[in-house]
Order: sequence, then structure tokens, then C-alpha cells
Amino acid sequence: LANRAFHPEDSIIDVDGVKVGGDHLALIAGPCSVESKEQVIAIAKEAKAAGANMLRGGAFKPRTSPYAFQGMGTEGLDILVAAKKETGLPIVSELMSADYIEEFNEKVDLVQIGARNMQNFDLLKEVGKRCTKPVLLKRGLSATYEEWIMSAEYIMASGNPNVILCERGVRTYETYTRNTLDLQAIPVIKRLTHLPIIIDPSHAGGKWWLVEPMAKAAVAAGCDGLMIEVHNDPEHALCDGPQSLKPAKYTELLKQVGAIGEIV
Ligand code: PEP
Ligand code: MN
Repeated sequence: LANRAFHPEDSIIDVDGVKVGGDHLALIAGPCSVESKEQVIAIAKEAKAAGANMLRGGAFKPRTSPYAFQGMGTEGLDILVAAKKETGLPIVSELMSADYIEEFNEKVDLVQIGARNMQNFDLLKEVGKRCTKPVLLKRGLSATYEEWIMSAEYIMASGNPNVILCERGVRTYETYTRNTLDLQAIPVIKRLTHLPIIIDPSHAGGKWWLVEPMAKAAVAAGCDGLMIEVHNDPEHALCDGPQSLKPAKYTELLKQVGAIGEIV
């Protein structure tokens, strides 16, 4: 179903009125995790002023350690809903358990499946059957293109055709960076499928200063959007502070990316 051979035109996915794919760039910004209402609303307003068209925030967090902050859960989703009321920005948030699909259908506009759940086939099937919102499927930590596309296929074959793919860096022998951004994924996914592909340079590099150059490269390579972690106080973030941009840096990045868009 994802195969370009049977669907030559690019798919354009509507996320609560924001189009993703074709000529439309999804600009998703926000904190790794929802930490408080004040935090999310402040970041949402600054991200919107910078030009973002969607707000991200993790309420359910897939942390490597069970002792790390696990997210605010349902309360976090309600904070995102409040931020949407203030700013109008559609909400992107990660779903980890099928138990919450109906709640996400009510509160979230783009349902993220994280890298660690990319091959949780039971979750993918339930999302295909029961999730009424578009799905953002992140690439697994060591997933091949074929495995990643097949995971999209699970969701689509189960009844939800609205899948957006997200490259977020893959594991390599390099340890200086958190992961290695695979920019080749953009032309490869576009050749093999008709689905939009967005890039998450924050989780790829793991360092804030890598975000801008990689975002520019991704736009130049033809991605359909960028998902970037933005935090008002990265030094004190409960999760992923070192890779988060302050709002002023994010504003600067979008200006730079706009310049590339004109050149391309
Ligand atoms: C995230 O986007 O917050 C996240 C946990 O990303 P990934 O699943 O790519 O690690
Ligand atoms: Mn994160």
C-alpha cells in the first residue's frame, strides 16, 4: 500500500488542517516531554511566532532507564490540549500502549509511534484498526528501509492509510553523536513509497548545535518537514536538554531553512 509503483503521486496527509507532503513543510517544534502547563504554553507561543505549524510534547516517554522521568501521562495530554486552545497548533504526541488509542483520538492530532516501538506489530495493528488520526512512524534504532516500510504497511493494511515517516538517526559505530542522521533516507523513501518523510535532527545528533546544519541539509535534500525539540530552559529539561534549542535559536533556524527553500 505504501509502494510508489501503485500510487505514483505523493501522498498529502492532512493533520487537522496542516498539510504534510507535496510542497508543504511540516514544522513540528516543542519540548521532548511535557513538564508543566506554563512550560508548554510558553514554548508553544514562541514556536508559533517562529513559524512552527505543529506542537510536539511527550506525555508518555519511552526512557531507556525505568528510573528516569517517564512522562506526565494523561495529565500531559490535557496540557497539550490547553496549549492547542491557546495557539491553534495541532498536537503531536507519542502513543506507547494500545490502551490509550481512544484517548489519543480525542486529544492528539498526529499520533507518534516511537523508534523503540517501530516493530511492536500488535501496537501497529491496533493503531491501524482503531486510531482515527494520522500516524507519525519513527524509524527504529537499527531498522532497514524495508523493515521501516513494512511497519508502515502494518498500519496501512490494518485500516489507517495516513502514515508519515520520520528519520531520527540510526545506530552506528560512532559514539560521539547520539545517532547518525541518514539523509539518504529522504530520496530512498521518496523513490520506494508515496508517503511523506520528515526529519528529526534533534534525536539524530543529540547535540543542539548539530540541529541547524542537519535541518538545512534535510530541507535541501527534499524532506517534507522537520521535528525539532525546543525548550525554554534546556539546562533544566527533564529529558533531552543537550539536544534542545532555545526558542531564539529555533527562530533563527527557520529563517535559515526558509532561505534554503528559496534556493532549491
Ligand atoms: C521522541 O521523539 O520524543 C522520541 C522518544 O524519539 P525516538 O522514538 O526517535 O527516540
Ligand atoms: Mn526527546
